[in-house]
Amino acid sequence: MKVTQAEFIISAVGPDQYPDDALPEIALAGRSNVGKSSLINRMINRKNLARTSSQPGKTQCLNYYRINDLMYFVDFPGYGYAKVSKTQRQAWGKMIERYLLERDPLQLVLQVVDLRHPPSKDDIMMREWLIHYDIPTCVVMTKADKLPKSQWQKHMKVIRNDLQLTSSNPMVMFSSELGLGKDELWEVISRYALT
Ligand code: GDP
Repeated sequence: MKVTQAEFIISAVGPDQYPDDALPEIALAGRSNVGKSSLINRMINRKNLARTSSQPGKTQCLNYYRINDLMYFVDFPGYGYAKVSKTQRQAWGKMIERYLLERDPLQLVLQVVDLRHPPSKDDIMMREWLIHYDIPTCVVMTKADKLPKSQWQKHMKVIRNDLQLTSSNPMVMFSSELGLGKDELWEVISRYALT
């Protein structure tokens, strides 16, 4: 997809701040520092619309970006940040679980993981929620440029097994650095958001 317009809309702290125009929503979940902001910037050809490395773990809001007046990217706060208190963690969980359960425009969750590492406990918990709420998921394995190509398949297999992915769950190899996987990911997103 050719992105001609991408705009930051709101850091929403709760459902009454979510947009009410019913455009399809593509959510992004992943641990802090995994590369979600870089992925968003790469997908929309912008250097800095989604702020990279901005105070990891601090945001307890859903960041909405409107793309081509066709859909929203909804960036979840990164999880697994060590310095977050138990209370904050619980608030995070409540907000995300409610969003997953109640948000009608949600079409697809991009679960972003680091290709180099096996999924964390938090990644696995997120995947269990997505299975439980029966939400279509695409696993995006980013930072692929940091691993020799000869090891990609081996790492992908570990991620597939640990996250209990089936052959019907799309997986995309990605690098924000190189732009690898961008067209493939837009194809997956279009399939869910635009049909
Ligand atoms: P976020 O916390 O998930 O939004 O992560 P960021 O997008 O801020 O990325 C965290 C760090 O990883 C930054 O230093 C990025 O430059 C780096 N990074 C993100 N994606 C990639 C990638 O695909 N390749 C490489 N080499 N570095 C990346």
